[in-house]
Amino acid sequence: MAAGQSLASLWGASHPVDEPYANLSTNAMIPVSTTTEAVPDDVGPAPAQPAIGASRLRTAQAGDGLDAGEDVDVANLTKAVDIGARIAQQAGVLRQALAAGAPQGVLFQGAAYVLPTTGRFTSGFGARWGVTHYGIDLANSIGTPIYAVTDGVVTESGPASGFGMWVVLQHPDGSHSVYGHINRSLVKVGEKVTAGEKIAEMGNRGQSTGPHLHFEIWTPSGAKINPLPWLAARGIVIGGTGDDGPSHD
Ligand SMILES: [Zn+2]
Repeated sequence: MAAGQSLASLWGASHPVDEPYANLSTNAMIPVSTTTEAVPDDVGPAPAQPAIGASRLRTAQAGDGLDAGEDVDVANLTKAVDIGARIAQQAGVLRQALAAGAPQGVLFQGAAYVLPTTGRFTSGFGARWGVTHYGIDLANSIGTPIYAVTDGVVTESGPASGFGMWVVLQHPDGSHSVYGHINRSLVKVGEKVTAGEKIAEMGNRGQSTGPHLHFEIWTPSGAKINPLPWLAARGIVIGGTGDDGPSHD
């Protein structure tokens, strides 16, 4: 797949259903010997009627067992193989993450996601003690491994006001995940990490009443959203009531 192509487009969200006809109308006019070349991504919109006429004409004239329909098949097959390779790669990432200790992992729309640590859910997102708590808290002992929720690039790693120390990752869709109160970061700014890779250890730094991970999700536009439904939409479910232990910030 093309670099930078989003998963959404791979899964069809941004591909109009008539794209094969656009390819058809273009490739119908070029020699058979080149039809297995990659189909250009920037094929323009198909003329309303000529696409059908052109393919019929070409099929009739070629007489070599290949028709324009096979261009479409090659393009779709190439896409399918790309998607398959991506899923296989991410499945490998997931297997590795689970083997290395990540507590829960799923493939969602071809990308691996894991629960970022093991621990009790001690505080949810929203108003709390007169202020808004912009994340969720998962409590466990100091040193408990913290994993990248999905593939990303490290944008922050080190001391942070309130969080004591934190790691922030930026993900391919532009969203960020935040890991606060960590005892120790294991990654550097600019480093690429894969889903389930150990990036930090749980701590009790900053404004914290006990060892826990404070986990946030920022949307691509920077809004801090409730991580629970974000995780649940990706198949990661956290049990517990969220009111039974150390938290803060
Ligand atoms: Zn918190």
